[in-house]
Amino acid sequence: MGLLIASDLDRTLIYSAAAMQLGEPVRDPVCVEVYDGKDISFMSPVAVENLVALAGQVDFVPSTTRTVEQYRRIRIPGLAPRHAITTNGANILVDGEPCADWADSVDREVADCASYADARDVLGAVMAQPWVTKVRSAEDRFLYAVVEPGEVNKGWFCELEVAVAGLGWVLSLQGRKIYAIPSGLTKEAALAEVVRRVGASTVVAAGDSLLDRGLLEAADVAIRPAHGELEDQGWTTPGLIVTEQSGGRAGEEIVERFRDAVPAPA
Ligand SMILES: [Mg+2]
Repeated sequence: MGLLIASDLDRTLIYSAAAMQLGEPVRDPVCVEVYDGKDISFMSPVAVENLVALAGQVDFVPSTTRTVEQYRRIRIPGLAPRHAITTNGANILVDGEPCADWADSVDREVADCASYADARDVLGAVMAQPWVTKVRSAEDRFLYAVVEPGEVNKGWFCELEVAVAGLGWVLSLQGRKIYAIPSGLTKEAALAEVVRRVGASTVVAAGDSLLDRGLLEAADVAIRPAHGELEDQGWTTPGLIVTEQSGGRAGEEIVERFRDAVPAPA
């Protein structure tokens, strides 16, 4: 009773074609996202089947840095979570719709950090580089940039880090994407609210990036894949479970660990 599973999506449960191949190949991957007419995100069919079965027994809460619009593109066959966390905690969705009353709490949490408008001005200038192909707003809550990794000047990361820290924001590097996010805007704050609302007593969490650290630290059972930003940094926390495999296979393994955490029926 009272178990809640909070999981990051990209590179934790769902994978681009390239990320899928970080480990042993997955046969017959299931497409879970189509964009501009192209299949762009995938899951292991075993992971889909087990996750759908689990979601019928416990609260499964997708917890993503994707915006609401980006989150809505994901279709995992047979899965319709009641709660979801998007935009790195800026939104709590209930049956797919953002809760209006959560936005005020978020405004309070980010009040000590530089505003989005100030950050856009400061970081927009730092990000104006030939290797930055796009700079995007995520619902005017935070910014992300897409870079050509091979062309990035090393000193530029340091410059960006200093600029971001000066704003009271944090930086996360995930493949070709660089996220700059107010330090007060976190998945774990939204998770605490969802836990309160559903009355969960035990939390299982999974994630692969720096933006998932708080989720993993707050959880009773924490799982991360053997790839990604946390793996690259050798990050750990007491009791952390790290998958044996990488890529799409790690996604399968993470769902298996979720299943292990569900108590057997009495
Ligand atoms: Mg991720």
